[in-house]
Amino acid sequence: MISVQDLKSAITERCQQYLAEHPLNQRATQTLPLLQAKNHILAQDITASFDIPRQNLSAMDGYAFAKGSELAEHTALTIVGESVAGKAFDGTLQAGQGVRIFTGAIVPSDCDTVVMQENTNFNDIKDSIDKTQFYAITLTKTATVSSNIRYQGEEVQTGETVLTIGKRLNPTDISLLANLGVAQVSVFSPLTVGIIATGDELVQLGEPLQHLAQIYNSNTPTLKTLLKDLPIIIKDYGIVPDSLDATRQTVKNAIADCDVIISSAGVSVGDYDFLTTVIDDLGKINHYKVAMKPGKPFVFGEFGGEFAEDNKQVLYFGLPGNPLSTVVGCLQFIKPALWRLSGVVENDIPMQLRLSANTTHDIKKQAGRQDYQRASFVQNEDGSFSVTPLSAQDSHRVKQLSQANCLLVLPKDNAGVKVGESVIIEPFAWNF
Ligand code: AMP
Ligand code: MG
Repeated sequence: MISVQDLKSAITERCQQYLAEHPLNQRATQTLPLLQAKNHILAQDITASFDIPRQNLSAMDGYAFAKGSELAEHTALTIVGESVAGKAFDGTLQAGQGVRIFTGAIVPSDCDTVVMQENTNFNDIKDSIDKTQFYAITLTKTATVSSNIRYQGEEVQTGETVLTIGKRLNPTDISLLANLGVAQVSVFSPLTVGIIATGDELVQLGEPLQHLAQIYNSNTPTLKTLLKDLPIIIKDYGIVPDSLDATRQTVKNAIADCDVIISSAGVSVGDYDFLTTVIDDLGKINHYKVAMKPGKPFVFGEFGGEFAEDNKQVLYFGLPGNPLSTVVGCLQFIKPALWRLSGVVENDIPMQLRLSANTTHDIKKQAGRQDYQRASFVQNEDGSFSVTPLSAQDSHRVKQLSQANCLLVLPKDNAGVKVGESVIIEPFAWNF
């Protein structure tokens, strides 16, 4: 049985190979308004069409003084006008003169220094200032030439590349692009990801349960929610009954429509688990079963070649049926793989945060599989973390899963942990 780490590496390698076989420069692109572009992957480099700042701007509320002005403490200078954000001073200035200026306002070209108002006698005289007249202001501290000015182009210069192909657009990128007046961007067209739920016992949300052997299909809504932020189109193939023909037909349809297929259930070795047979027929299983708990019967495979048009390749992830395995398997293997396949550059794939925490209880474990226990962690006064595993770690406990705020990861060879010892936790990203 492959280890979690080796399976992750194998999936990463296959995704990289997929990207090499499907080069990004041949992938379809689409133009999106900036406001819809969050989490999409840039298909173009973005260059600045103007400098930021566009002019020399004041970094402070205060006074801008003309070049050559005496700037020692106690010097009095004459204020002859003002420059406000959105309306520049349009006169000329001589040494010994200055203008009232505000943060973000243009520093007149005659000026080379801004003095913050706190370093003048502004507070003492502010009530008597008549802005229609020249007035004098005295420095209460010696000023340094060229201070408090944001220089034109010091952050971004016209023609500079600010973001490159493969960038996943996060809110701060959107801010940068909006500052540069970029109203729309070219991004890679989303991959299509098919979701198939299998099992005769399953009922779709919104439909009534008819008898006691039925349960709701919770895995499809769970997967859709976990994958909501990704730049993908999800195609829901609904619930497939436990029949070889129905399973085969649905998988064939999904191969025709999708770039990636995710299924839940039907991959154990029960009498009614038809998916493995169908994958064997229509494609191949790269890995089956991983040394983890929960989620052992995880399948990583692919369809393609002779079974699909144009030698199309479709990667396949088969999750075990129980809802907890679906969550853990999706977070550990599927989400990172889908990000990678989406074309995002390697160092911009969203990270899974891992922290060290001290356990508040003894934890029982047998060596052999990597455990993902459901747990609740807190941050202590000193910044350290404490974690409490939730009671009875059975893999069908969905209420417990919703009470957890992290997974507590115990490596394969770990054979139990004593209270106070350090363990690794993976916080659920939706708590932050
Ligand atoms: P299986 O992998 O088919 O043996 O299913 C394992 C367990 O997961 C069984 O208890 C199933 O009833 C349950 N299960 C399978 N599919 C789903 C689903 N889509 N939503 C909720 N539970 C499921
Ligand atoms: Mg089943």
